[in-house]
Amino acid sequence: MIAEIINIGTELLLGYTIDTNSAYISQRLSSIGIDVFFRTTVGDNKERLLSVLGIAGGRSDIIITNGGLGPTVDDITFKTISEFTHKRLKFYKEVLEDIDTHFKNRAIKMPLCNKRQAYVPEGSLIMKNDAGTAPGIILETNKKLLIALPGPSFEMGPMVDNLVIPYLKKRFALKNIIKSKTIKITGLPESKVNEKIKDLLELKPPVTVGIYAHPQQVDLRITVKARDEKFADREILKIERTIRKRLKGFIFGADSDTLEEVAGNLLIKNRKTISVAESCTGGLLSNRITNIPGSSEYFKMGIVAYSNEAKINRLSVPKALIKRHGAVSKEVAVSMAKNVRAEVNTDIGVGITGIAGPKGATKTKPVGLVYIALSAPDKTIYRKFNFTGDRLTIRQRSANAALDLIRKFLMKL
Ligand code: AMP
Ligand code: MG
Repeated sequence: MIAEIINIGTELLLGYTIDTNSAYISQRLSSIGIDVFFRTTVGDNKERLLSVLGIAGGRSDIIITNGGLGPTVDDITFKTISEFTHKRLKFYKEVLEDIDTHFKNRAIKMPLCNKRQAYVPEGSLIMKNDAGTAPGIILETNKKLLIALPGPSFEMGPMVDNLVIPYLKKRFALKNIIKSKTIKITGLPESKVNEKIKDLLELKPPVTVGIYAHPQQVDLRITVKARDEKFADREILKIERTIRKRLKGFIFGADSDTLEEVAGNLLIKNRKTISVAESCTGGLLSNRITNIPGSSEYFKMGIVAYSNEAKINRLSVPKALIKRHGAVSKEVAVSMAKNVRAEVNTDIGVGITGIAGPKGATKTKPVGLVYIALSAPDKTIYRKFNFTGDRLTIRQRSANAALDLIRKFLMKL
C-alpha cells in the first residue's frame, strides 16, 4: 500500500507556513504500517492541483490532501477533487447544520461564505470537524482512496486520529503494528556513533535502526514492524542491548527523556544541590535545569556573569587570573565553578565560559572554544570543547555538555 500526501496552500510554497501537518500524517500512517512514498506541496491553483492529483493517482493507492477546505474563494480542494473524480458537488444539509451549530455555539451569525463548505463531492464519507467548520472527506474511487483534510493542525490532527486511522485499519484489514524506541546519546559525534553501530544501521525491515543528530545529541531509533506486541518488544530489547553494550556511558536516556531531567533525577537521588555561573550560555543552562518541575529541590541559583567586571565583582574571580589566562580559559571556568559553589553554598558548582561567536575569536582562541568546570568538595573537574555551528548552536551544545558533565560526575563515569 502506497500513500501520498498533497499539501495545498500558496502560503506553504511561499514559506510563510511551515508544513507540519505532513510530518504528523506520515507518523500516524507509519504507526499502522502504511508507507508514505511521496509528498507534494502545491499552491491554491486548480490546474496545478489537478496535475498533481493525476500524478498521485498514477503511483499511489491512498491520496491524502490537506488544506484548501476553507470558506474563501481560494479554497478549491473539493471543487478540484470533484473535477478529478467526476463526482459532482452535492449540497449536504447535515453539513450546513453542523457549520451553523459551530457558529451558534460561539454566538456568531454564520457568514454567508461558509455555505460553500456544505458542497461536497458526491459519494464521499463525510468526516465531521469537531474543531472547525470544514468537513473532511473519504472518497473511494477507481480503486484509489482519496482523503481530504482541513489545513489547521488542530482540526487535522483529531480527524486523523479519530476517523482516518480507524477507517484505514478496517478498510485494509491492517494487523501489523509498528513499535519504536529511541535511545539517546550525548558526548559522541554522529560519525563516531555511526562507526560503532554501522551494522545495525544496515538492518532491513522488520527491524530497522535510524540515526538522527541534534546539537550535542544523537538519537538512535529502533523500529520494529510486527504482528504482535511481544515479538516487537523482544526484537527491540535485543537491539537495545547491543547498542547499550557498544555505547556505554554515552547513553543518557530513552524516548522522551531529556538530559536536564536525567541530571535532575541524579541530583535528587544523590541528595546534592547545585548552583551555576554562566557566561557564554547567558542563562541557558539555568533555564534548562529549571524547565524540570521540582527542580527547586536541587537548583539554588544561577548567575549570568557576562562581563569581566561581573566575574570579578560578583563571583570573586581574581582580576589577575583573567589578565593572565583570558576570560575564556580553564582557570576562569574553574574559578567560576568553585566560587559560585562557595557563594551559594551548594554541593556542586558549575562554571561555563566560552566564545559563542560569530565575533570574539582571537589567534589562539577560536569561535566555539568553551570551558566547562564542575566543582565539588572533594574535586574539581573541567572540560575543554571546540564546538562548531552558529551562535545558538554553540550555546545549546555548551548547555548540553554542562548537563552531561553533571550526569557523568554523579554517575561516576
Ligand atoms: P486552509 O484549509 O487551506 O484554509 O488552511 C487553513 C490554515 O491551515 C492556514 O492557516 C494554513 O496555513 C494552515 N495549514 C494548511 N496546510 C498546512 C500544513 N501542511 N501544515 C501546517 N499548517 C497548514
Ligand atoms: Mg488555504
